[in-house]
Amino acid sequence: VFAHLVQAPEDPILGVTVAYNKDPSPVKLNLGVGAYRTEEGKPLVLNVVRKAEQQLINDRTRIKEYLPIVGLVEFNKLSAKLILGADSPAIRENRITTVECLSGTGSLRVGGEFLAKHYHQKTIYITQPTWGNHPKIFTLAGLTVKTYRYYDPATRGLNFKGLLEDLGAAPAGSIVLLHACAHNPTGVDPTIQQWEQIRQLMRSKGLMPFFDSAYQGFASGSLDTDAKPIRMFVADGGECLVAQSYAKNMGLYGERVGALSIVCKSADVAGRVESQLKLVIRPMYSSPPIHGASIVAVILRDKNLFNEWTLELKAMADRIISMRKQLFEALRTRGTPGDWSHIIKQIGMFTFTGLNPAQVSFMTKEYHIYMTSDGRISMAGLSSKTVPHLADAIHAVVTK
Ligand code: PMP
Repeated sequence: VFAHLVQAPEDPILGVTVAYNKDPSPVKLNLGVGAYRTEEGKPLVLNVVRKAEQQLINDRTRIKEYLPIVGLVEFNKLSAKLILGADSPAIRENRITTVECLSGTGSLRVGGEFLAKHYHQKTIYITQPTWGNHPKIFTLAGLTVKTYRYYDPATRGLNFKGLLEDLGAAPAGSIVLLHACAHNPTGVDPTIQQWEQIRQLMRSKGLMPFFDSAYQGFASGSLDTDAKPIRMFVADGGECLVAQSYAKNMGLYGERVGALSIVCKSADVAGRVESQLKLVIRPMYSSPPIHGASIVAVILRDKNLFNEWTLELKAMADRIISMRKQLFEALRTRGTPGDWSHIIKQIGMFTFTGLNPAQVSFMTKEYHIYMTSDGRISMAGLSSKTVPHLADAIHAVVTK
C-alpha cells in the first residue's frame, strides 16, 4: 500500500551532514551542523552537565514515573526566571504559565497549535530568511505563514526600514515571530534601540510577539544581555510567548529539553491558558521526558553549578567569536576581494557569508567543505586548524 510513495528529499539542513558523512576526503569540513564543536572538532558535554548527571544518579530516591502534562514544575519555574529575569513583573504577579516541551522545536509547535486554536488572528509573520523549520512548524500547527523583510544582502546587515514597513502593514493582532538573539541563519540582530522601536510599533498595532530563544548566552556570552529584548516586551505589561531551548546553551541537544512560556495580563488568565495548553499537549505526546529537565533543574537551582555553567557557556561563545576574528584575518591576509567585515559583525553560531548556491557547490566539490546552500556556515564547526582551508576555498571561489 505504500509502493506509490516517492522518496522524500533530505532535510536541507540535516542533509548537509548526510552528504558530509559520505565523503571519504581527509580534509572534509562540516560547517552545516548547528551544534557546538571544540577546537578539536569534537562534540562537547559540559562539565557542569556531567556533575548534574552524577548527582541525579547518586540520588537513589529518584523514580521514573511520568511527569505531569506540563513537565517538571521546578524546571518550568527556573526556566521562566532564566529568560525573564528573577525580578520580572510577570513572575512576581504570577501571570505567566510555563510548560516543559521537547526542546525549541516542540515549544514552537505547542505554542503554534495553542495560538491556532485560541487566538483570534491565524497569521504568523516570520523573518525573511529564517530557520528552515519555522514555516513548516507553523503551517502544520494550523497558522498561515507570511514573511517580513529582515536581511539586506547589500549590507549583509539588517533591513530595518523594510522590517518596520512590513510589520507596520501587517493586519492588527497578527503574530510575529522574533529571534530573541543570534538570528538564524543571518547572525544579524537589531540593536537595543531598534528593538525598542520594534516594541513600540508592535504594541501600538497589537501585534503578538512570539520569541524564539534558541541561543540565550550564546550570542554575547551573557544570559542577561541575550534575554534583554524579551524582557523589554515583558516590562511593558503586554502579552507574549517565548520558546526556549537548552540544546545549544547547555549542550543538551539530544535530550530535547525546552520550555514554552506565555505571559498573560493576569494570574487568572494564565491559569486558564495553562489548562488549555494541557489539552494541546496531552494528545500530542502526553507528557515530556524527565532526564533533560532534571539536569537543567539541578544546574539552575544550585548557585555554584549555575556560575560554573555561565563560565562554560562564555567559553563556547568566546571560541566562536575568536573563529570569526581568525577567518576575517585569514581572508584579509589573502587579499580576498570584497568586504568581509560582516563575519566579525554578525553574532552567534552562524555567519551568513553571502556566498551563492553555485559558489557553495564549488567549495563542496573542490574543497570538501559542507554548508547549507544559502551560504550559512557554522562558526562553531571551525577551528584554528581548519580556518586556513576555509579561507583558501572562499578566496578561490570569489577569484575564480
Ligand atoms: N529556533 C532556531 C532559530 C534554531 O536555530 C533552532 C535550532 N537549530 C531551534 C529553534 C530549535 O532547536 P531544538 O529543537 O534543537 O531546540
